Amino acid sequence: FQRLKAGLSRSSNAISQGIASVFTKRKLDAETLEEFEDVLIQADLGLPAATAITAAIAKGRFDKEIEGDEVKTILAEEVAKILTPVAKPLVLDPALKPHVILVVGVNGTGKTTTIGKLSAKLRAEGRTVMLAAGDTFRAAAVEQLKIWGERTGAAVVSRAIGADAAGLAFDALKEAQAAGTEVLIIDTAGRLQNRAELMAELEKIIRVIKKQDPAAPHTVLMTLDATTGQNALSQVEIFGRTAGVTGLVMTKLDGTARGGILVAIAEKYRLPIHFIGVGEGVDDLEPFEAEDFARAIAG
Ligand code: GDP
Repeated sequence: FQRLKAGLSRSSNAISQGIASVFTKRKLDAETLEEFEDVLIQADLGLPAATAITAAIAKGRFDKEIEGDEVKTILAEEVAKILTPVAKPLVLDPALKPHVILVVGVNGTGKTTTIGKLSAKLRAEGRTVMLAAGDTFRAAAVEQLKIWGERTGAAVVSRAIGADAAGLAFDALKEAQAAGTEVLIIDTAGRLQNRAELMAELEKIIRVIKKQDPAAPHTVLMTLDATTGQNALSQVEIFGRTAGVTGLVMTKLDGTARGGILVAIAEKYRLPIHFIGVGEGVDDLEPFEAEDFARAIAG
């Protein structure tokens, strides 16, 4: 919680300072509420959430004095209300061999690292894991995945740089099925510079996997970098449409995160948020806890 709180300090400091400057011991009036709503919008929470939270503050308190601490308590409660329905653990079907997890997201958002951490978690639970190095364009991504495979005791399927990612995913799934592997995690490319090509590649990977197992991928995890702010919304839009994202992981919540955007995303897309990344280490993947997050962001 302390690390999350520190990571979210950029958002929570801005909110705290905003609250301190807006609620200056005067009676709650329309102007105060409007200023408070602006503070929340500046902190990336999005207009619908900002409006709902402001309404909750106003309810029964209009024309009365209100303290900053009371505002923070209500803010935390309201953010928790938005986040609680989407805070869901990642559930894997043990009957599947393998349960296929496709991992998507813009390059640099933490796909490979998250796969490594997730592999470690699953291995610690005693499951067999195979990793497919589907980002076939970046030698570094393939190398990183191999290192994570070695570290966590997961088999890694890779091809030469530039090889067809869909073909690789197909082969990996066949291998995992033959070996009776419980979880197959497929890394993908995230070059947003060439959006059409990237989306075509993701669609092809999914199409090809389905030939081998019509229900796969069973999970499509998307990584979001908590330091990006507003841009994360359009990323969810694009990948959600193309890859059928089933759940989110917000990474880099340990750094100088702008976590407010997670509230806007939860409010708009209602996608499950499974994990948060709080560091580069193998143990730095934590379940997403709505109340902790809400308390940390409210300052
Ligand atoms: P990919 O391009 O999406 O596969 O992203 P990577 O997994 O290569 O991650 C990009 C960079 O972000 C690397 O330097 C990672 O170590 C770092 N990173 C990933 N997740 C986290 C996190 O939760 N916290 C911090 N501080 N760094 C992270």
